[in-house]
Amino acid sequence: MKAFFPKEHDSENRVSLTNDVVTKYLSIGVDISMEKDLGTHLGFSDSDFSDLGVNVVEREEGLSSADIICSVNKLRNEDLDLLKEKALIVSFLDPFNEMDLVNNLKEKKLSSISMELVPRITRAQKMDALSSQANLGGYAAVLIASNILSKSFPMMMTAAGTISPSKVFVVGVGVAGLQAIATAKRLGARVEAFDTRPVVEEQVKSLGARFVKIDIGETEETDQGYAKELTPEQIEMQRAGMKKVCSSSDVIITTAQVFGRPAPKIITSEMIEDMNPGSVIVDMAVGTGGNVEGSVPNENKELNGITIVGNTNLPGEVAIHSSQVYAANIFNLIEEFWNKETKILEINEEDEILSGCLVTHEGEFINSIVKEKFN
Ligand code: NAD
Repeated sequence: MKAFFPKEHDSENRVSLTNDVVTKYLSIGVDISMEKDLGTHLGFSDSDFSDLGVNVVEREEGLSSADIICSVNKLRNEDLDLLKEKALIVSFLDPFNEMDLVNNLKEKKLSSISMELVPRITRAQKMDALSSQANLGGYAAVLIASNILSKSFPMMMTAAGTISPSKVFVVGVGVAGLQAIATAKRLGARVEAFDTRPVVEEQVKSLGARFVKIDIGETEETDQGYAKELTPEQIEMQRAGMKKVCSSSDVIITTAQVFGRPAPKIITSEMIEDMNPGSVIVDMAVGTGGNVEGSVPNENKELNGITIVGNTNLPGEVAIHSSQVYAANIFNLIEEFWNKETKILEINEEDEILSGCLVTHEGEFINSIVKEKFN
């Protein structure tokens, strides 16, 4: 079987193939090709790849001859027209929002794996691209905020007086939030954090940050560890409980997400108006609706002197490392289902991982939520 790694569309600077996985692919017998100039912008030259055994080809040739096509973001409909019958595409697909694309995949009898839907079970941890990217995103969010903020993060005792540490408030403590806390702590900030899942309190404390306790009544989480949506009353209680912490924070990083739903709107314009001018908010959920009133995807907005960062591709700020871990996630997924004897990727719809992340296969929807959405 042949795997092809195309260049990404738009401004995406991450890539799906890095040098370190090439030999792994070749060792299990995957024939790999990539689009010309795939990683030039990151300093990975075509010859670096071809010296290792990758065929460097034009996009059309790659798309039309491959059995497996791996990318970071979804292919476009015009790309699909070039693919071989029954080809498998592997990428972030955003399947709950990209109904047209997903329907087109089914109609064309293409198989598709959505990296967002890889189940959070132990066997699939090495393929968990949501986590690998969120981790680096959390790190980048703190660095961006610290660059915009005209204050130092650490406390400094100098001959000219003492500089107090900056205050960072992290809202939503999943993978991205934990890394944001750890990064802000390493930089010397005083860090506070809140999450609706009470289990998070211990993790926040273990990183040396303070957990902000807010009583919002009963909260639930799914068997995969995702938070369930709060009621409008609970969101109001949360806002009221966070108001004081927000107003005294120099930096707020929001990462709150609810699986398969728009992000909860937690920080209102009113709460932002109470903050000190010069403060910074990074809305890491801006791509799924935003946690912050007034945040705009891929823009930095200002409200009363407060900067609201709406970067939708924070992992892309550290694209070499985010590409490296993403490329490893994809390889691990392919290797898991690769038959080394026949050199074929075997799709078993009953497998716990594939039944979760396979969106379309042989003209059918497979993932149960996608199936339900189309019914
Ligand atoms: P996520 O991106 O879905 O959400 C980010 C955080 O926002 C979550 O912690 C969630 O509880 C929180 N949140 C939701 N609504 C909120 C609100 N109104 N206010 C404040 N916070 C709110 O989360 P994630 O990073 O994907 O992680 C979810 C959990 O899954 C974490 O506990 C993580 O450690 C766990 N996890 C497990 C595995 C595994 O393989 N078992 C892998 C990755 C993550």
